[in-house]
Amino acid sequence: GLTEKLSAAFKRLRGKGRLTEADIREAMREIRMALLEADVSYKVVKDFVARVSERAVGADVLESLTPAQMVVKIVNEELVSLMGGANAKLAVSSRPPTVIMLVGLQGAGKTTNGAKLAGYLKKQNSRRPLLVACDVYRPAAIKQLEVVGGQLGIPVFQMGQGDPVEIAKAAVSHAVQHGNDLVLLDTAGRLHVDEELMAELKNIKSAVRPAEILLVVDAMTGQDAVNAAKAFDDALGIDGVMLTKLDGDARGGAALSVKATTGKPIKFVGTGEKLDSIEPFHPERMASRILGMGDMLTLIEKAEQSFDKKKAAELQSRLRANKFTLTDFYDQMVQLRNMGGLSEIAASLPGAAGKALQGAKMDEKIFTRMEAIILSMTPGERENPSVLNNSRKRRIAAGSGTGVVDINRLLKQYELLQSMAKQMAGGKMPRGMPGMPG
Ligand code: GDP
Ligand code: MG
Repeated sequence: GLTEKLSAAFKRLRGKGRLTEADIREAMREIRMALLEADVSYKVVKDFVARVSERAVGADVLESLTPAQMVVKIVNEELVSLMGGANAKLAVSSRPPTVIMLVGLQGAGKTTNGAKLAGYLKKQNSRRPLLVACDVYRPAAIKQLEVVGGQLGIPVFQMGQGDPVEIAKAAVSHAVQHGNDLVLLDTAGRLHVDEELMAELKNIKSAVRPAEILLVVDAMTGQDAVNAAKAFDDALGIDGVMLTKLDGDARGGAALSVKATTGKPIKFVGTGEKLDSIEPFHPERMASRILGMGDMLTLIEKAEQSFDKKKAAELQSRLRANKFTLTDFYDQMVQLRNMGGLSEIAASLPGAAGKALQGAKMDEKIFTRMEAIILSMTPGERENPSVLNNSRKRRIAAGSGTGVVDINRLLKQYELLQSMAKQMAGGKMPRGMPGMPG
């Protein structure tokens, strides 16, 4: 598989004190072969290898990394950016219901993954989904949707073998009347892209104006999946891709090519036949899965953090001068989040401060709220939070869509971290506090 081939390419670089251009050229040749064999499209491979080579040849090797690790780091970063960088979220309508239209070739996994997505959003986002049977050509398709919907406890709207456009419209009215804030349209597929199918999908699209047209493609079909994505995007316009059957795909070609070829991100992946086998797509996780080098990537990350000594020294002098501002607090939070959550790190901190932060359960939602609050402050307020009187707090609350309690809670956490940081500026920082002297 791709992972083994890439490892072999990197292995040859290991133990080399410095890399010559010939070393890099050889490694790039192997990476190119590995990607092509994984069914990544030719143009994508060519651009990818060119970018990596350029960076590898010109790279300032971080002090603490070997040249081989440096190449892995670059390849990893480029894989992540090839797949779109960050997780792309589904669109949400400002006026409910949000309509998501699932389209794709026959057998791609629309019906099962539409149900999975409904189940996921019901559980994770407390949505109230309605599944809609717009694939009317085979009675079995309607039955299938009812079965999977039933297994997940999600209502299914159907009007038998009627007109899919009318069904979609009626389903939206039904959703409005019954308080379903999410409507998922399971549409018909064909074995190949054809005009009749596209015309039908376009009619549904213009009748209900979906917030999101999600193309479902089968990862195991590699380049064909990418070609289908291109065809659907050209004819209909898609907003994102759901890549299914990733559990059966050892190559990774579709995952790597979709974004670069169509400009449309993969938003969700199907990872098995069970109805809970669905995940949001995270380029970083996919890249490290492809590289199969979790340990080395962690090591590289650590090296990068310690490389950031200049920033750390700066922060230390700010602490000494008692100038740990909300901007610094925010920077720290971003770094903590990038490291994968505060609660774990808080658990390793000594004393009351660690406990208090742990109690704060810094999950994504809370972070987003904090971010909104800090961004709604003026630069002056961030530098000097003591000016935050009640009227300022109310203004910030309104600007960030939060409440004064949220702002007070954030200030409390900031003060805790500030006092903790002050103690540590004199003595030692606990290990694992990024960006701070260790
Ligand atoms: P549709 O024609 O696009 O509606 O496709 P279906 O939803 O009927 O799925 C076709 C087949 O693929 C079914 O047998 C599904 O169980 C299977 N399938 C769908 N998603 C996945 C997945 O993520 N992993 C695996 N292993 N099978 C899947
Ligand atoms: Mg189907």
